[in-house]
Amino acid sequence: MRVLVINSGSSSIKYQLLEPVSGAVAASGMVSRIGEPVEPGSPTVEHEADGRTLAHDGPIPEHATGLRVVFELFARSGHDLTGEGLYAVGHRVVHGGEVFYRPTLVTDAVLTSIDELSALAPLHNPANVIGIESARRLLPAVPQVAVFDTAFFHGLPDAAKTYAIDAKVAAAHGIRRYGFHGTSHEYVSGQVAELLGRDAAAVNQIVLHLGNGASASAIRGGRAVDTSMGLTPLEGLVMGTRSGDLDPGIIGHLMRTADFDIDAIDLLLNRNSGLKGLSGVNDFRELQRLIDTGDQAARLAYEVYIHRLRHYIGAYLIDLGEVHAITFTAGVGENSPQVRADASAGLSRFGIGVDADLNTAKSRAARYISPPDAEIPVLVVPTNEELAIARAAAALVTASA
Ligand code: ADP
Repeated sequence: MRVLVINSGSSSIKYQLLEPVSGAVAASGMVSRIGEPVEPGSPTVEHEADGRTLAHDGPIPEHATGLRVVFELFARSGHDLTGEGLYAVGHRVVHGGEVFYRPTLVTDAVLTSIDELSALAPLHNPANVIGIESARRLLPAVPQVAVFDTAFFHGLPDAAKTYAIDAKVAAAHGIRRYGFHGTSHEYVSGQVAELLGRDAAAVNQIVLHLGNGASASAIRGGRAVDTSMGLTPLEGLVMGTRSGDLDPGIIGHLMRTADFDIDAIDLLLNRNSGLKGLSGVNDFRELQRLIDTGDQAARLAYEVYIHRLRHYIGAYLIDLGEVHAITFTAGVGENSPQVRADASAGLSRFGIGVDADLNTAKSRAARYISPPDAEIPVLVVPTNEELAIARAAAALVTASA
């Protein structure tokens, strides 16, 4: 049984063909720079299968072309997607609004609803819709399943999901905290419960998903009770290019006094803020290299990042009262011992700390990094959104058969 997982972004498509039970990946790849000019000879599609990389050069004017090239590369690498054997296609969809809170079989009506939710996620849902449309056209006989990044947070308690603005305005415009990265928070929190050897319903935990985008969640007994991202993925932690939390008054101030229109605000807060806005680079490894050269702006960016992260850890400790695990995941969380150490520094009176050797040991496995006698275990658990989407898609197709 194989599932193709597609994550269609505004100028890229990431994909994996995998076996949902074992998690074995048969092929994976990425289409990049869709709709952008490219230099001759620089690959726009890179496809890995069976230890071999196949590449495609030349511009990809739109998503449908990108997926068609991907299907050709699949065929060249010995995986005929249009033939027998593909059980489902699982699509990552960023915003499910109030409408979608579980994996959903794609129909024309579902696609229309996802498109309508673009008002809430103008930077994400349109690209997700194009990805689904293209995949449906290329694979008309294969069930397509949408898996929503917001779903895990659908049941947030009212106090956590409500913004303190005029309630009538909020109700009229769907304004609430939706939360994102839900597939990752759900998957990782499930792994944590397994690692602790406890039923998920008995575990209170904090999950810190620190990638290019970053979010924190507080989970009580398997249910999310708070999360740092909001109406959009802009709220919360400092991210690669996004500001995270700020005084909304900044927006009015810039519009009134600095000639920023709403597109300039979107660009500022989503693409030119966060680590990039403060230091010039959004990639954490580059940030660390700059810090090592003594770059003061990079050092400040790091300090702001850690300061915000610690705020959320503190808030969620209080939210949850009793906490059984704090877990780092995604690119930065899985790979930066420095961030993990600085995020938990000086918290021994709260039962939180990392063991220097465990924290710096190189490993790809889910693992403890706190001392064995720690009151609150601190863990590193690699996320795997593709596997979670593949499993959700396969389970839904099986259940609807
Ligand atoms: P995305 O949100 O794009 O899925 P990832 O979860 O892949 O992001 O995380 C990307 C981030 O992880 C980048 O900032 C990258 O620099 C960082 N990262 C990856 N490897 C390391 C490492 N060894 N040390 C520090 N940061 C790392």
